Amino acid sequence: MSGLMSNYTRLPISFRHGKGCWLSDDAGEKYLDALSGIAVCGLGHAHPAVSQAIKEQADLLLHTSNLYNIEPQLQLAVKLNALCGTDTAFFCNSGAEANEAAIKLARRYGHNRGITNAKIIVMEGAFHGRTLATLSATGNDKIKEGFTPLVNGFVQVPYNDVDAVLAYSNDNDVVAILVEPIQGEGGINIPDTDYLGKLRALCNQNNWLLITDEIQTGIGRSGQWLSAQQNGIQADVITLAKGLANGVPIGACLAQGDASKVLVPGSHGSTFGGNPLACRAALAVIDTIQNDNLCANAATIGDYLHKGFATRLANLAAVVNIRSQGLLIGIELDRPCAELVSHALKKHLLINVTAERVIRLLPPLILNQSEADLIINTVSDLIIEFTK
Ligand SMILES: *Cc1c(COP(=O)(O)O)cnc(C)c1O
Repeated sequence: MSGLMSNYTRLPISFRHGKGCWLSDDAGEKYLDALSGIAVCGLGHAHPAVSQAIKEQADLLLHTSNLYNIEPQLQLAVKLNALCGTDTAFFCNSGAEANEAAIKLARRYGHNRGITNAKIIVMEGAFHGRTLATLSATGNDKIKEGFTPLVNGFVQVPYNDVDAVLAYSNDNDVVAILVEPIQGEGGINIPDTDYLGKLRALCNQNNWLLITDEIQTGIGRSGQWLSAQQNGIQADVITLAKGLANGVPIGACLAQGDASKVLVPGSHGSTFGGNPLACRAALAVIDTIQNDNLCANAATIGDYLHKGFATRLANLAAVVNIRSQGLLIGIELDRPCAELVSHALKKHLLINVTAERVIRLLPPLILNQSEADLIINTVSDLIIEFTK
């Protein structure tokens, strides 16, 4: 027995240290990381600015409590609000917790307007987390199996289908739309360019909140701070986590306008949320992304990867589609391909397969061109061999 619960199938490898986009295993063998711990380590591994911030803060103070002012937390809120067009921030420790805060906020917003049986519109194929409420909001029946009764108050519609949302315009119980600008776990599903704008308009017409889950797409990965900024859309509530502190656990729920004032003293909280250590790490991440122009690098190198794959895989019937925005890249095959993950590992490359048939690449934002070439060649060779 391993001593661990069996909720993960783990690959037979463990890493000891990392540097930039590379990881080293117990035997000192090096692997190129094209997954970043699932969109977490945007600055790669052991980034000196993050390490330095954590070391400094560890020598000062790890935790006091939200009963007191926490200086780095306030600094982080001010920075994130400026970057995301929001007014207020709540900090927690994970993506699921950020979405829980957003869901509670939306329900409170409804209650304040006399809606006691609030409904939130969510999407088929969505992923919002593993806690009961976020699982209930998730559009994947497989991961809900065995966990009923789930949380009420979510109505599901097809993704990228404005009419399906429009059909709820006369439902007075609806308080919000919760949507990923691009579905990550769902298979790097990119909606039509006017989709978010149309959802924004429906929210304005009906006094609904637009909540964007940018937990996977945010913090530079899309080529801008937020993916919705690609479409010029300002959400009322934005959730962040994964890439925000490069591996130190943190989540954030940001809000603007009316939504920014909904949570009042006593209505929500977190013991660890917004602690000085996590906030210092996040501040170092934001500064580095700004100073090193990493949003722009994600856009440029993401396009380079997309074009490279398009060229290498051009005549392959088994490739259904290549989808990308910045460094969110999905290559959909016409067949299940989970085993490609272990094939890639043998070639010293870390990748992921999601939604059964989609090879998902989420490399660090610091990826350079020679590393991109290595990813293009290795993944293309694997696909060609696998589908031949
Ligand atoms: C990963 C993810 C979550 C859940 O984040 P956790 O930190 O694992 O709780 C929620 N939404 C999206 C879009 C994600 O990619």
